[in-house]
Amino acid sequence: MILAVASGKGGTGKTSVACALALALDRPLTFLDCDVEGANAHLLLRPELRSQEEVLVPYPTIDHSKCNLCGKCVEHCHFGAMVRLGKKVKVMENLCHGCGVCRLVCPQDAVTMSGRPVGTVHQGTAGLMRFFCGELRTGEALSVPIIKRIKKEKDDLVIIDCPPGTSCPAVESVEGSDFALLVTEPTPFGMHDLKAMITVCRRLDVPCGVVINRSFGDDKEVESLCEVAGVPVLLKIPFDRKVAEAYAKGGTLLEAMPELAEVLCDMFMEIRGLKR
Ligand code: SF4
Ligand code: SF4
Repeated sequence: MILAVASGKGGTGKTSVACALALALDRPLTFLDCDVEGANAHLLLRPELRSQEEVLVPYPTIDHSKCNLCGKCVEHCHFGAMVRLGKKVKVMENLCHGCGVCRLVCPQDAVTMSGRPVGTVHQGTAGLMRFFCGELRTGEALSVPIIKRIKKEKDDLVIIDCPPGTSCPAVESVEGSDFALLVTEPTPFGMHDLKAMITVCRRLDVPCGVVINRSFGDDKEVESLCEVAGVPVLLKIPFDRKVAEAYAKGGTLLEAMPELAEVLCDMFMEIRGLKR
């Protein structure tokens, strides 16, 4: 089973919930931290990292001795990554998506593809868990290839800590999952982004359920949003000073609220019944 833990809005406690669930289950599983622009699950799960691997994307190099400046590569690059500057054609590194079209259309065979590093995947173990986490290079924009690499890791149970938002990295992380657990907070921003994330799950055909984090008890607006959308609220985690204190010390949700372990396990059993 692949369980994606996602949130439209950042800062809702998605990673805390994903890590708490993985720890509460206390069984062999694979944890994938796909939040490659701000991976922090390792701070809570404290894995022993054993190896790392560079992620490369195809990248064109132009042989200027062969190039006749015909402009076909500039014309066909959908990402605007090829530009003509004076008497040379140049690749704009941060715009290039490595699609290889420029090589295919070049009549002079002047384009060759090599690998350009965009980030790293770290691998390790934390107790019974296999742990993988992606790290995007500073200044790099292409996070999806790193997410694709991490998601190659398979297991009977995979928990994915997805990036926040509803753009390509979040979509790539949730796609193909059996269930998406959407962590939200009872605020206008939280609700707005939850709605967007529910739409993403619908489009990806991934069933979803909601965790309301930092609940003050009365979450009628979120509950009615979920009811209208036909999405179950699976858990409410109360707003509690103990949690903030635990986080400040680098502790987990379970260290602040050990009683949540059983509740999270029950929620997981419920999810198993709801998954596609
Ligand atoms: S590989 Fe694709 S994105 Fe990159 S420069 Fe060539 S055509 Fe453009
Ligand atoms: S398609 Fe080839 S020959 Fe034409 S401008 Fe680009 S690199 Fe030069």
